Amino acid sequence: MGMLILTQPGNRANTYGPYAAAVLKAEGFADLDVQPIGPESLGRLNDYDVVILTPSLPRRAVVERIVDYVKAGGRLIALRPSRLLAVELGLAPTDTAAFPAYVRPLPGNAISAGVPHESIQTHLPVDNYEPLQLPEGTREIARVYLDAEVETSYPAVLHMPLGKGQAVVFGYDLSQAVALIRQGNPSHQGWRTLGFGNPYRPNDMYSGHLDPRRMHLPQADMHAMLLGNAINAIAKHPQPRLWYYDSPETKSMVVLDSDDDYSPLEAFEALMDSVEAHNGHISIYLMLGPSKYTIATPERVEGWRARGHSFGIHHNAFDPQYVNEEQDAVMEEIVRRDTDYFREHYGGETVIANRNHCLGWKGYVDLPRIYEDVGVVLDTNLLSIRHQWLQYTNGSGHPGKFVDTDGEIIEVFQQLTQAYDDASVKAQLSSNPVGEAKATRQVMLEKKERYFSPLTMLSHPVSFYTYSSAYQNQCWDYANELGLPIWSAFEWADFVRARDQAQVSQSAWNNGSFSCTVSGSSPSGSFTLMVPLHNGETPRASVDGETVDVTLQDAYGYTYALVPVPISSNGAESRQVVVQT
Ligand SMILES: [Zn+2]
Repeated sequence: MGMLILTQPGNRANTYGPYAAAVLKAEGFADLDVQPIGPESLGRLNDYDVVILTPSLPRRAVVERIVDYVKAGGRLIALRPSRLLAVELGLAPTDTAAFPAYVRPLPGNAISAGVPHESIQTHLPVDNYEPLQLPEGTREIARVYLDAEVETSYPAVLHMPLGKGQAVVFGYDLSQAVALIRQGNPSHQGWRTLGFGNPYRPNDMYSGHLDPRRMHLPQADMHAMLLGNAINAIAKHPQPRLWYYDSPETKSMVVLDSDDDYSPLEAFEALMDSVEAHNGHISIYLMLGPSKYTIATPERVEGWRARGHSFGIHHNAFDPQYVNEEQDAVMEEIVRRDTDYFREHYGGETVIANRNHCLGWKGYVDLPRIYEDVGVVLDTNLLSIRHQWLQYTNGSGHPGKFVDTDGEIIEVFQQLTQAYDDASVKAQLSSNPVGEAKATRQVMLEKKERYFSPLTMLSHPVSFYTYSSAYQNQCWDYANELGLPIWSAFEWADFVRARDQAQVSQSAWNNGSFSCTVSGSSPSGSFTLMVPLHNGETPRASVDGETVDVTLQDAYGYTYALVPVPISSNGAESRQVVVQT
């Protein structure tokens, strides 16, 4: 069964339609079909447990077909429905919009009960529907706000019965909102809007864009939670998902990397020794010239790799060779030159994660496009800088694929770096390492208990060696205490890619028994399946006939069975999962 995502290629309203699938895949939904609106997809609506219609402008005959499907018992989620569809679903458009709108998830209903009840940004208009003319039985899931604190009377998200079916209407383009929150304002590209220093950084996209009153919230993740919960609430059968991590015991983790910045050998050694003492690994991005080179020679790197650490490139657009040259003009050449140099001298694994010196960036998503071409999977350039320290600059703790303004999805994941040691926080980390580590522990705890995203941490060898070890060691002690594994950025990138490529298919429910096939390969030897439950009893589960231990997990207001699925780390395999609820 699974779900169908309907798109309308070529229609400007649907630019971010296909990106809705990327948002859902990041949330673990893996049994989904993306199809254009047309005779074939419309003829198969009843084959699915839920249909998600992305923003589109279908003509009357198509709208009537979709509404008839719902009335006959179908389940529809409409992201910014057309005016005609809204009317046919029973809504009364006011033909006005709130802009730039915030939406606030409301308490008192299953879809938003487990999502923080604070308003979140959309950076988009939201359609206003007459609040006093809603179809009978409609529940308001979220409310339109004109600002973080300015409430309107208009509903932003509605859950309504229609005939024998149900619909959830989002009055805004949820996937475009996620893209804008995650990647900032595309009209800032090429401008140093931050106003400090020469480097053009990804952060330049967020000035005047991220509401400082909301940077404590994973706003993009919250939009995705609402969509995932809407699926839970109305799908004909509960939809399986892949848990964010390989193992059911892992609720969050520390993803650790490091920028070389010409650190001395003893600093490299001290950093890696300490990470190992915390049962972790680290990825270190090396300075490769052209004027000056890292002390991490290929021979030293070989020894460190044998200890489980990994090495990438710290591309440097600020080498004296490029003085006064525009970074945007030299970045591609640097990335390709460094990649070739690294391959030739350092061999071994492909560079799959990356951060640049001074966070050097290019365009809006020009840099990820180059990364895609050279094999980088995970980008950690975006940092929660200055007053955003430990906050959610891009509204997300989770990895998410980049998307361009034309809707093209780039096969590189953006992963925010929330904690780090560099010059901008040197004073606070030096004077109050214990207090800052406690604040970081609070973020870890919130992730472990509520958001399930990893905490990405950057520790420069030289900073660790000179002033930040008290802070970092305390944080890693806390990670050990809270049960957060410490993975290198490479290990995480490898898993993130594998999870994205994994497939859940043939999911079926029969008298409370759920079965599906999980296919793919996981670098750590397992995935974890999450299956929504409607009672609180722990089900029994098996994988290829072998009983496995099931644990219960509450997430965003719903209870799931977490089922570990052992799967090969090399070569695709299929596993048959059965859950008896
Ligand atoms: Zn650097």
